[in-house]
Amino acid sequence: MPRTVYVNGSYLPEAEATVSIFDRGFLMADGVYEVTSVLGGKLIDFGGHAARLERSLTELDMASPVTMDALLEIHRELVRLNSIDEGLIYLQITRGNPGDRDFAFPDPEKTPSTIVLFTQAKPGLADNPTARKGLKVISIDDIRWGRRDIKTVQLLYPSMGKMMAKKAGVDDAWFVEEGEVTEGTSNNAYIVKGGKIITRDLSSDILHGITRAAVLRFAREAQMEVEERSFTVAEAQGADEAFITSASAFVLPVVEIDGVALGNGVPGPVATRLREIYLDESRKAAV
Ligand code: PMP
Repeated sequence: MPRTVYVNGSYLPEAEATVSIFDRGFLMADGVYEVTSVLGGKLIDFGGHAARLERSLTELDMASPVTMDALLEIHRELVRLNSIDEGLIYLQITRGNPGDRDFAFPDPEKTPSTIVLFTQAKPGLADNPTARKGLKVISIDDIRWGRRDIKTVQLLYPSMGKMMAKKAGVDDAWFVEEGEVTEGTSNNAYIVKGGKIITRDLSSDILHGITRAAVLRFAREAQMEVEERSFTVAEAQGADEAFITSASAFVLPVVEIDGVALGNGVPGPVATRLREIYLDESRKAAV
């Protein structure tokens, strides 16, 4: 069954949905995005994703073509039209089609933003076998731009990072800048030492993960100790456990970094417990 997608106010079969070749998202990567997961047909942490979207738009002086209330209804309608039980909703807003190519931003009064949303069905998203096996990662230089707190569609280097990981026979890569881990290619990175959860503090160096905020809140509520600071690859290799978080992966254990096994090389109890808590609490709060 072809998907029904949303483009600029219309729900259309995917083959009929089009965007101009002059769209600045296509020509300049001048766009922002969000990914919201769906469990049991409901949206996980929609409020967090909507708030971060508004912030990304504001930071780039980009207008939103819809209100956040309307956006919630569009998400729900796409879940309904595509019968999504477990999966994702991808949302992208770009600075639109000024009808030509020019580095300067177009006047937003004359060039409305482009908005596109589509679903990806992912049966088994919550019961992911990788959660029982864990991920292997390599470290690579973080050569991305300096505003990683804005969720833009400039994903070429993260894609290259995934390819470097694939070539090395592992699952993902962690970015390293000035000797310290920033984050994963598409997730936030954590280590656990002596029961304490350590993850890089928020700044423009990393994306402010919506899953990160929820997981740290749940960890603190469960009386786990959390320290927000940077760590090196060597410290991570000597940690008891490591894990990553993202809206589509939730919490996934990391069992190897640059060929060095962590602990006894299997998913650790803290990551496993946090995944359970995150899934339980998020399902309860889903809308
Ligand atoms: N960092 C980066 C670079 C990401 O691409 C993502 C996923 N979009 C994350 C962190 C995790 O963010 P979230 O939990 O909001 O998905």
